[in-house]
Amino acid sequence: MRPLSSQAHVPKRAAGFRSRRRLAHDDPRGCPRRENARNRHTIGLTRRTYAGWLVAIVGAATAWSGIQDSDPAAPLLIHESTTGAQLFLVPEQPGNANCYALVDPAAKQAAVIDPGGRSSQAMADYLRSRGIRVRYVLITHAHTDHVSHLDYYLTHTQADVVIHPVELQLLRDRRKSNGHDPDGLDARGCLLRTDEQTIEFAHVRLKALLIPGHTLASLAYSWVGEDIVFSGDALFRGSIGRTDLPGNAGEACLVAYIRAKLLSLDDRVRVLPGHGASTTIGRERTANPFLRDERRTKRPAAPNRQPDDSGKQ
Ligand SMILES: [Zn+2]
Repeated sequence: MRPLSSQAHVPKRAAGFRSRRRLAHDDPRGCPRRENARNRHTIGLTRRTYAGWLVAIVGAATAWSGIQDSDPAAPLLIHESTTGAQLFLVPEQPGNANCYALVDPAAKQAAVIDPGGRSSQAMADYLRSRGIRVRYVLITHAHTDHVSHLDYYLTHTQADVVIHPVELQLLRDRRKSNGHDPDGLDARGCLLRTDEQTIEFAHVRLKALLIPGHTLASLAYSWVGEDIVFSGDALFRGSIGRTDLPGNAGEACLVAYIRAKLLSLDDRVRVLPGHGASTTIGRERTANPFLRDERRTKRPAAPNRQPDDSGKQ
């Protein structure tokens, strides 16, 4: 595994989403000087004024282009494995979750994790633009903000859907009650048969980890050999998933499974959650108020509890 150097932690824009923000702001031509405006009023439309206008128009166009390119929905390259596999993130947009994609560029195959709304659409557009086939859609749990874009993959790809059978049933029931045909989902099936089952494509290998609590059968996915785990809404930076929504398994259950399945991993393992910023197992082991003290039974104050998780289905 290529170590996660400090440089590797700096997200890079995905190819095809080159930001021109630097050009727009660093180029002094993009900011017409005041004297040009003064000249325009005092000496009329001279050649210099034409040049000033031209510079202003070019500057404005470049700045606008920079704004367009800095679209927050553009995928960020956040990790590359020694085998060349790439990990992309589209940070959560209002109403959905962080969307990740593991891509094997040589094989032109990918797995998308948690296809929610705008984030997932941006990821899908990017993968399509690179001619990459989505082999798997991995779902951590069936809350709407993590699956609202699943129909796209059912309609436009042949991807297999990986979800725990209990969550699949919830998803199927909800789709039915919302007037969606559940057949599309049933046809893809549910690949998950056992806890800690592995999912493989090209040079990427993932292991599903059952962590009930936030929902009855949430999954995390460990990227084998890369010291990375996708924790869904089970574990966040400085917090854990809510357990006050319908269909949860309780905080005691969640904490117990986090301890068993996640805190058993090495301290250096990077945790990529369904919402908010990444963290590490080591940091959460020592600093997470929900996990720090094994004897603690009372819920501590949680200033870092995900505000964006409120109202999730
Ligand atoms: Zn959730």
